[in-house]
Amino acid sequence: MATPKALVAGNWKMNGVTENLVEIEKLNDLLGQGAPGCDVLICPPFTLIHQSMQVAGDHVEIGAQDCHANIAGAHTGDISAAMLTDQGCKYVIVAHSERRTDHGETNEMVRGKADAAQKEGLTAIICVGETEAERDAGDALPVVTSQVRESIPAEAVVANTVVAYEPVWAIGTGRTPTTADVAEVHAAVREVLIERFGTEGANVRILYGGSVKPENARELMSVDNVNGALVGGASLKADSFYGIIQAYD
Ligand code: PEP
Repeated sequence: MATPKALVAGNWKMNGVTENLVEIEKLNDLLGQGAPGCDVLICPPFTLIHQSMQVAGDHVEIGAQDCHANIAGAHTGDISAAMLTDQGCKYVIVAHSERRTDHGETNEMVRGKADAAQKEGLTAIICVGETEAERDAGDALPVVTSQVRESIPAEAVVANTVVAYEPVWAIGTGRTPTTADVAEVHAAVREVLIERFGTEGANVRILYGGSVKPENARELMSVDNVNGALVGGASLKADSFYGIIQAYD
């Protein structure tokens, strides 16, 4: 099986109103100057998904930041995977550490969401990562590998699963792990993916996320088993996000 293209995904979080759509339009224009060596995805807030689809053009995929584990029903304020495919999404992020922290999402809940997403034909971007206290205690590898074991549904294949390693202490802080630390965690994630999913696990994309910027992207993206990036702050502006994507020129 050919290794899939790297993926550079932007997570806008709870940022963006109509006037910010110009950034997606601009990103598509920049990418139109030459085919990027990676897939490019923006996950805006739910409220902008429909309009984002209109301006994303040929070079930018649009995805979502979360979905419910059920397909429909009495869940006020929630959005189902079926609603996302209905809007044309191909990807959904699940288990972002902010969801794990702010909404108490457990590995089991995350697995339910990822399972619902995959059953609807979406690719689930499943986030894992240790807190600073866990890293300081020497527990980064056991924490991350048990998240990989418990959060990813049994039916994972390359086409429906992306894993994003995001050390919680690196998100939005400007701090990043050393490339040796990134390599160590990504190798451990790969080992569990192969153990669980064989050849598919050998090819599932593993993204690195946490303070990726144009200045550090090339170095981080060159680490073994890093198959792209999940980007928060630097994805809000087309120029900085494009600067990261250029790591795959
Ligand atoms: C994120 O929220 O997934 C993230 C990696 O944020 P930032 O790039 O801002 O650290």
